[in-house]
Amino acid sequence: MNKYAALLRQRDLKATRARVRMLELLDNAAKPMTAQEIHAKIADRKTDLATVYRSLNKFADAGLIARVQLGDAFVRFELVKRHHHHIVCNSCGKIFPIDLCNLAELSDEIARKTGFRNIEHQVVFRGECQDCAQRR
Ligand SMILES: [Zn+2]
Ligand SMILES: [Zn+2]
Repeated sequence: MNKYAALLRQRDLKATRARVRMLELLDNAAKPMTAQEIHAKIADRKTDLATVYRSLNKFADAGLIARVQLGDAFVRFELVKRHHHHIVCNSCGKIFPIDLCNLAELSDEIARKTGFRNIEHQVVFRGECQDCAQRR
């Protein structure tokens, strides 16, 4: 069985061809994708944008993919793998993944002070990318 179909079935989600294709796209994407971008890449006339949205929300609720907010009007999605963050260029909008995170200690301190458990965080870094900086 296809590994994406297996991931879906493990979570009691129907493994349609379009859904398998969506997970494959997200797995191979270098950055989080919007529903529109995924829809455009699937290029399957039978799968409309609403269906893509519905599937993405089901995947996210099942913990297969994460919703990523980068401070603009879009919700983006990515496959859940290793913990990481993103940095967005203020000039061109390019998105880069960042593997570094040293917020575990801060989370522990917040847990001690507030009694919260299972603390998560979403941090977006912004700045000017190398390409844009060189263009000046
Ligand atoms: Zn840039
Ligand atoms: Zn982090």
